[in-house]
Amino acid sequence: MSYETPETSDDSRFWDEAAQGRLVFQRCEACSYVRWPAAGVCPECLDRRFVWEEVEPAGTVWSYAVYHRAYAGHLKERIPYNVTLVELDCGVRLLSTLVGFDDDAPVGARVRARFEAVGDHSVVPVFGPA
Ligand SMILES: [Zn+2]
Repeated sequence: MSYETPETSDDSRFWDEAAQGRLVFQRCEACSYVRWPAAGVCPECLDRRFVWEEVEPAGTVWSYAVYHRAYAGHLKERIPYNVTLVELDCGVRLLSTLVGFDDDAPVGARVRARFEAVGDHSVVPVFGPA
């Protein structure tokens, strides 16, 4: 696989690495800003140069909500499910799901990524207690 396209909002590298149990994001080569979602230009300095870089898969729960309605077919069997915004230590805020918490709304809790298969072909990062 090659990921050498200099300008891209293609996020396939993120998903390919997640399937291997790694979190990677684009880091701006000009100002070092780590960004998500993937973009062809840095939102901080507008430079187009970037590298994909593995980050520590750790962060803090920033926001948390429980959904009682499935907005995608594969979620029907998970109702109720949570949608969580995790602020990673690298600065990226990533929408995900919390696993392994008994209490509701653990905002501020330290979490660490785990990688969970969804369907037959995708692996997604979810977060559990650090
Ligand atoms: Zn930048």
